Amino acid sequence: MKVAVLKETFPGENRVALVPAHLASLKKAQLEVLVERGAGLAAGFPDEQYQQAGATLVDSRAEALAQADIVAAVRAFGGNAGIGAAGHSQPTDTFKSGQTWIGFCDPLGEPVALQDAASAGLSVYAMELIPRTTRAQSMDALSSMAMVAGYKAVLLGAAQLPKMFPMMMTAAGTVTPAKVFVMGAGVAGLQAIATARRLGAVVLAYDVRPVAKQEVESLGARFLELPLETKDAQTAGGYARVQDEEFLKRQRQLTMDALADQDLVVTTAAVPGRKAPTLITREMVEAMPPGSVLVDLAAERGGNCELTRPGETVVHNGVTILGPINLPATIPYHASQLYGKNVTTLIQHLLKQGFPSVNLNDDVIDATLAVHGGEIRNPTMREKLSLPPLLPKTEVPIPLAEGPAATPPAVPTPGTSPSPPATTPEPPPTSAADETKPGEPPATEQ
Ligand code: NAD
Repeated sequence: MKVAVLKETFPGENRVALVPAHLASLKKAQLEVLVERGAGLAAGFPDEQYQQAGATLVDSRAEALAQADIVAAVRAFGGNAGIGAAGHSQPTDTFKSGQTWIGFCDPLGEPVALQDAASAGLSVYAMELIPRTTRAQSMDALSSMAMVAGYKAVLLGAAQLPKMFPMMMTAAGTVTPAKVFVMGAGVAGLQAIATARRLGAVVLAYDVRPVAKQEVESLGARFLELPLETKDAQTAGGYARVQDEEFLKRQRQLTMDALADQDLVVTTAAVPGRKAPTLITREMVEAMPPGSVLVDLAAERGGNCELTRPGETVVHNGVTILGPINLPATIPYHASQLYGKNVTTLIQHLLKQGFPSVNLNDDVIDATLAVHGGEIRNPTMREKLSLPPLLPKTEVPIPLAEGPAATPPAVPTPGTSPSPPATTPEPPPTSAADETKPGEPPATEQ
């Protein structure tokens, strides 16, 4: 079977889906890797390195797509649909029925973009839908990219600030350390805290989930405790619950004082599948010291600050507000290394579960497979597209053209009688009952 690595077409997308170091394990699994010429160049991985690692170079995207059983991309479908990129249009690819695609597809933001994939008979694994479970941790590309973004947000802020970060005691006097306030202490926020601490800043952090306190303090930062009722602020899966406007209003009033004393504010607050909550209003920005900087990591999801403009820098009352988009693409070498490892692990997982047959009894496959068998599978996407819920999943073996001979396939065919899974699924994670899928919060959480 062949895996193709595409050259990304989205403007500014410098990452690549697999780096040469990932090829050894794929080849060991009997996969041939095709790399579109120049695919890794912007990330610092020239064609020769892929060749030395055993890849076959192909001259064009069309050639790669014509041969591939699995297409590995960073951005595909909705993820390549042109957010903030004037004049960008998705490539008009010729799809091969039965082909499997893996990439960031923005399934919940741009579900329409995956309807073509469904009609073309593709199977699409959306990396955004990898469940945030212990078992799927090594495939969790949202976390690995959030980590890169949290790191870079602090560097952007530090470069913009008219001050230095560390305390310095010099013959010319003492420089006091910068004060950094991180709002939202999830994956990106914790990395922002760690980076700011390494640079010598004094860090304060806040999250609506009370459990974040311990993680914040373990990084040497202070947790801002607010007199807010937050015992229900976290879902069973560890995500923040949607808060009503009354709560957010009170939260804004209470954080106002803390903001008035900061040099750099990094906001990362998000609720899966929702517009980011507004944490900072115009009035609050006006209370920040002139020369201070706000980096809004939620810019792509509507922003945590009322004044943020995605992809732009706004200066208001002497406060600089950065709304960076696609930060991981600005550190493409390491971002690709981490993302490629997530993709490689997913491919290995699919093989273990009997690929090209599809074991829908596997929780990772079931959650991540957005499109299969001509259907949009994800319930939230179906809701957004006004499609009726799918019939309860059933599986039936079909004959295969290629793939591991010993593994009977299982594909969903609504209305047929169920058959046993093709492979022995791995045991569920011990904490599986506690975990939810991104974008699919139970109805009770709304
Ligand atoms: P995210 O990007 O959805 O949100 C970022 C942060 O914003 C979260 O910490 C959230 O609590 C916070 N937030 C939301 N509304 C807020 C508000 N009004 N005020 C302040 N903060 C607010 O989340 P994420 O970083 O992707 O993940 C969050 C949590 O999910 C993690 O801390 C962890 O518990 C869990 N997680 C688990 C795994 C795993 O088990 N493999 C992987 C990743 C994340």
